Amino acid sequence: MSLSRVLADIADCRACAGELPHEPRPVVRVFPETRLLICGQAPGNRVHQSGLPFTDPSGDRLRTWMGVGYEQFYADRRLGVAAMAFCFPGTNPKGGDYPPPKRCAELWRPALLRHLPKVELTLLVGGYAQAWALGDRRKATMTETVAAWADYAPAYLPMPHPSWRNTAWLKRNPWFEDEVAPYLRRRVADILS
Ligand code: SF4
Repeated sequence: MSLSRVLADIADCRACAGELPHEPRPVVRVFPETRLLICGQAPGNRVHQSGLPFTDPSGDRLRTWMGVGYEQFYADRRLGVAAMAFCFPGTNPKGGDYPPPKRCAELWRPALLRHLPKVELTLLVGGYAQAWALGDRRKATMTETVAAWADYAPAYLPMPHPSWRNTAWLKRNPWFEDEVAPYLRRRVADILS
């Protein structure tokens, strides 16, 4: 099976139909050339509307951390995005999004990653992606896992989600933007050079 076949099957996926508060609309953007893979949680409502990953303030913050502009983020096929679930899971009564449906990674992730042989760095954005990729190598908390980022380099970089909901976390942990984000920018510059 080819990458384009896997992507076509994902686009047709309706496995969560009836469980989501809307018709499934899978959002994933990867290419055979992808060398840096961004693995977040699941699309939010804005991404569900646009059909493109990270077309929201979280994406703006992520691009700042990466040191890439909006146009390049979508134009450069060496950058790819495949979250732990490809469809917006809906919003819970407290205002946050529901967790990514587990079945999505179980159904699609192994086949998708098999067809991305050039990936040399995966950004593990948030706890769900870290749990999937790191398993027992994860620390007790997301903060401890991100703080131990050097243990997972060069293949993985655990990060907090760039959502505004993590602004307080970033203030409490300034080492992330002082130390980890510059490392990320160096790696991105190297990959895109
Ligand atoms: S979240 Fe994943 S498994 Fe569920 S319908 Fe969307 S693509 Fe399919």
